[in-house]
Amino acid sequence: MFLLSPVFKDYIWGGNRLKKDFGFENELEKTAEAWVLSCHKDGENTVLNGKYKGKLLSEILTPEMKGTNADRFDFFPLLIKLIDAKDNLSLQVHPDNEYALKNENEYGKTECWYILDCDKNSELIYGFKEDISSEEFRKAIENDTVLEKVNRVKVKKGDFFFIDSGTLHAIGKGILLAEIQQNSNTTYRVYDYNRLGNDGKPRPLHIDKAVDVTKCQKPARNYSPEGETEKFDVYEKTLLTKCDLFTVAIYEVKKEVALYADETSFISVLVTDGNGTIANKDEKFEIKKGDSVFIPASEGEIKIKGKLRFIKTTV
Ligand code: ZN
Repeated sequence: MFLLSPVFKDYIWGGNRLKKDFGFENELEKTAEAWVLSCHKDGENTVLNGKYKGKLLSEILTPEMKGTNADRFDFFPLLIKLIDAKDNLSLQVHPDNEYALKNENEYGKTECWYILDCDKNSELIYGFKEDISSEEFRKAIENDTVLEKVNRVKVKKGDFFFIDSGTLHAIGKGILLAEIQQNSNTTYRVYDYNRLGNDGKPRPLHIDKAVDVTKCQKPARNYSPEGETEKFDVYEKTLLTKCDLFTVAIYEVKKEVALYADETSFISVLVTDGNGTIANKDEKFEIKKGDSVFIPASEGEIKIKGKLRFIKTTV
């Protein structure tokens, strides 16, 4: 099992809750994102424990550790982040695999968000209010009226959003969330609230590409986890989503839970609250809010004990 060292990003809209609430340490003025499971070239995790201590996760992973379900991907399939939006994120869209592999030489991006915390009136943007044509979408961007066309959603803790590639979206200010996504960093920015970037210039927009890939529709899904909460004496479990890219569930542990890593997939455990211990047959260590553990495929039974919440992701 590998305890991972996160990579931080100081995008202009970030806040300081990842340092304050999660205890992450860095020198940045703002911490917008913590990449807690990443083999992406823009920010890779290193291992903090055991015989691989100090190595990049991407250097040590073998196909066996990723599991047979990962064989169909040319790159490491996942990127998991914690995001603290002190300010609004730009209105954006991500391409699908076909478009991204052709134009960006990486995967497209389908992502999902689990809301960990938010201010009282926080909202985000998810798709369009009404179905419109691509031409109307382009005109609205050019006339600076695109915010009139979007679907705004008030959010609360525990909401879950599945953002299929091609879905227009923006995280709103005051939202702290966990994002599970395909391993891609391709974003087409549609609108940026006329702000300036860290270099004092407007951040670039990518209007042609955005119009190419955006599905100009109302969102097809609601804002809840896909599964009902399963309640047991010592833990509760809620399936957030199961799609062809990833399976994500949130666990609330009151005392203990056992996970099982078979040969099909690694398991990512991201602690979002509380603390406890994690153990396999050979090793055991303490875990706390913000910790991310990579459990290789075929590790067998993993026991997690304590009072904590965590997100479990497999492919
Ligand atoms: Zn996005």
